[in-house]
Amino acid sequence: MSSASVVATGRWTDPDDGFRAPAGEVHAWVPGTNQTVCGLALSREGFQRFPHISWPDIMPATGRHADEVTDVCRRCAAGMGARRGEQRWTRRDPRP
Ligand SMILES: [Zn+2]
Repeated sequence: MSSASVVATGRWTDPDDGFRAPAGEVHAWVPGTNQTVCGLALSREGFQRFPHISWPDIMPATGRHADEVTDVCRRCAAGMGARRGEQRWTRRDPRP
């Protein structure tokens, strides 16, 4: 699963070029499906779809469309694989 787009609880339009970008809480979504990577139904949650924006673009640390993103779904992030340099939840107990 490496080519997911995103859905979000809100959206933001750049006043300069009219570019539509996600805002609020963002989930990963594979275009053509009707649910997020973490299993939420798009229609029930009322998410806005952003098929033109890919998952790495909304990562707060590195994405170019992350300005208005307040939350990235942890379960989607785990499903997409953690990116380098970020903490990742793991089931293993890292005993020192
Ligand atoms: Zn999610």
